Amino acid sequence: MATSVLSPYTSREPVIHAGILGATGSGYLLDGPFERVEADGCLLLRPLSPEASFLLPEVRIGIGFHWERVEPQRFHGALRVHPDGLMVNEVALEEYLRSVISSEMKATAPPEFLKAHAIVSRSWLIAMLERGRNGMDAAGESHGAHTHISFDNAPGCREIIRWYDREAHTRFDVCTDDHCQRYQGISRGISAEVDRAVSETRGMVLAYGGEVCDARFSKCCGGMTEEYSSAWEDRDMPYLRSVADTDADGGCHCATEDPVLLGSVLNGYDLDNPGFHHWEEVITQAELSRTAMEKTGTDFGSIVGLQPLSRGKSGRITRLLIRGTKESLIVGKELEIRRELSPSHLKSSDFEATPLDKDGLPAAPGEIPAAFRLSGRGWGHGVGMCQIGAAAMASRGASYQSILNHYFTDAELITLYR
Ligand SMILES: [Zn+2]
Ligand SMILES: [Zn+2]
Repeated sequence: MATSVLSPYTSREPVIHAGILGATGSGYLLDGPFERVEADGCLLLRPLSPEASFLLPEVRIGIGFHWERVEPQRFHGALRVHPDGLMVNEVALEEYLRSVISSEMKATAPPEFLKAHAIVSRSWLIAMLERGRNGMDAAGESHGAHTHISFDNAPGCREIIRWYDREAHTRFDVCTDDHCQRYQGISRGISAEVDRAVSETRGMVLAYGGEVCDARFSKCCGGMTEEYSSAWEDRDMPYLRSVADTDADGGCHCATEDPVLLGSVLNGYDLDNPGFHHWEEVITQAELSRTAMEKTGTDFGSIVGLQPLSRGKSGRITRLLIRGTKESLIVGKELEIRRELSPSHLKSSDFEATPLDKDGLPAAPGEIPAAFRLSGRGWGHGVGMCQIGAAAMASRGASYQSILNHYFTDAELITLYR
């Protein structure tokens, strides 16, 4: 990985507009001096000192995920209140990053991992801002969803392939929930370690072919990272190739069960949901057929089979045939599969489904299953940097350069602004 200094894209630190969707319509409390101005029909509250902050007493986080909850959140920077109650935090990019790294990962995580994460998050963010600025946002189907419906397939049933653009917001750059990147302001405090990781990599991004990389990350790849096209549009990203998440001896980086390492990396509420490199979930027939009907609008009757038709390189299912007694349906891509089989989300779409009888034994052929056992690997889409794997690499002495080099093939490190 070459290190060069060039700045064709952004030579000054950008300001991020972060939409706090879980706080819409709630109140706010100002702490320190602010000026109130009218701006574009909105109320804009600008801090008059760097220490000034505002508190949102009730913010819903993890919306639709199994960790959904309400908590108070505090932010630096300006608060823009739209007439409909939408709250947007306007904050300098590096300050935003300090918070994102603190919220996503613990400050006790290995320092080289924190630096790698700062560069990945900064790259993703600037790539997204660049696309927005160049008017290259995907032409808007509602909610940023891209849906392709067809009948032209071997089982002869309806096929719905859907994925979601994260840059689908119109009144702000990023939302503060997991849809974009979890951002909780200064609620959890910013540690000296995170502050150092962000400061020491200030302005540094991954670049490829003259552009800032659309760098991605997920919690745990499960042993092999996934390609971009398994989660989003059918397009190859040369720097987001599938790589084995293994060291020279073939040991898997993210297979670690070291409680000290995991405890130093994951926030407490993630530890409440153990099992991510390998996981298992049993879903009853009643729960599965009801959930799948609610989410797809298709009345399957009883579901008799969950059959993968194609998988990405990590093993994540990208097209799944849901076979019912009344109707069958093919769904994709990975996120849609995770959404449609679970009231919240499955951890990943890399799983084998075993039909079970009422005693929990494998169901006989032709029998209507009483439940399905899903045996899966990984947590999240698996594209780009594997957070657990990267933390494990750093804990064994890897530098942030070699971590990034491992997950982002052929990308180079450049400094956009000082
Ligand atoms: Zn978002
Ligand atoms: Zn991994």
